[in-house]
Amino acid sequence: MGTAEAAPAALEEPLFIGVDVGGTKVAASVIGGGRAQQVVEHPTDLESGARLLDGIEACVREVMSRKGAPAAIGVGVPSQVEFSTGRVLASVNIPLEGVPLREELGQRLGAPVHVDNDGNCAALAEAHAVGARHLVMLTLGTGVGGGLVLDGSIYRGASGLGAELGHLVIEIDGPECPGNCPNRGCIEALCSGLALERDASELGRARPGSPLGRLVAEHGRVKGRDTVRLARAGDADALALLDEFGRRLGVAIAVVLNAFEPERVAIGGGLSGHADLFFQTARREATARALPMIVARSQVELALTGAAAGVIGAGLLAAQEHAANVAGVAA
Ligand SMILES: [Zn+2]
Repeated sequence: MGTAEAAPAALEEPLFIGVDVGGTKVAASVIGGGRAQQVVEHPTDLESGARLLDGIEACVREVMSRKGAPAAIGVGVPSQVEFSTGRVLASVNIPLEGVPLREELGQRLGAPVHVDNDGNCAALAEAHAVGARHLVMLTLGTGVGGGLVLDGSIYRGASGLGAELGHLVIEIDGPECPGNCPNRGCIEALCSGLALERDASELGRARPGSPLGRLVAEHGRVKGRDTVRLARAGDADALALLDEFGRRLGVAIAVVLNAFEPERVAIGGGLSGHADLFFQTARREATARALPMIVARSQVELALTGAAAGVIGAGLLAAQEHAANVAGVAA
């Protein structure tokens, strides 16, 4: 660690902290020049909302003790957030439903806090990393998250609940959505880790003698990672499942290309680490289906920002909101 990094920020340079609240860990860092400096990570305390708030506060305080007081703090949560108030309206995986997070953390930490959905934060980080003003991000994990950056800013709808791209429908009578969603045939119902696990398990049940079938017989289901492992070993069933996964993703990409004409569609999330098994098919399908003039102008790529995307995006959000507020006061 160089001495320059350890020194407190110069007075004229406002400091911004990004916080990513995930289901397993809370990460916080000062964000400067679109980079995270020394990320502090704590395990997420899911016991209660109060315990989780204490954990977030402790994580940010650790960053502040090293780097100084921030001008603003951005917080990304895997939840539905009313952006103007920073209140969490719905939250399935972490106990923050109904919590006025912006107010709570603002009081505890003595700095302005801006709260947003983690998919939105990740999209902002990716847009910044690739220098795109118009970008759509799809995050393929257990579910499918999404984020939309339009003209350089996060687009989140009237109250902050919009841009739920994982719930765009790509198959009218498709499988039920696994999330907190009444619909069926959503991108999340077809292109998520849960969808892959469901389809692999179904195929295994239909073919008891196959490698997938043996996994079902042994464990009652096939996990996504087993499907990936079998595909890498050349199993035809597993390869076909991942190819179909790619075809569906391609349809989803064509939908967002036509809707937004982004400079770039970025595919991130844990499953994108296995993109060699499905991404080529996805691109081919997207190129065949989206309007040709849009295809010619848009790029479809894997996300460049890795695990730190949430922290970086939250910090960038804090900086953007701070700049907007300063401009608002000056006007
Ligand atoms: Zn859905």
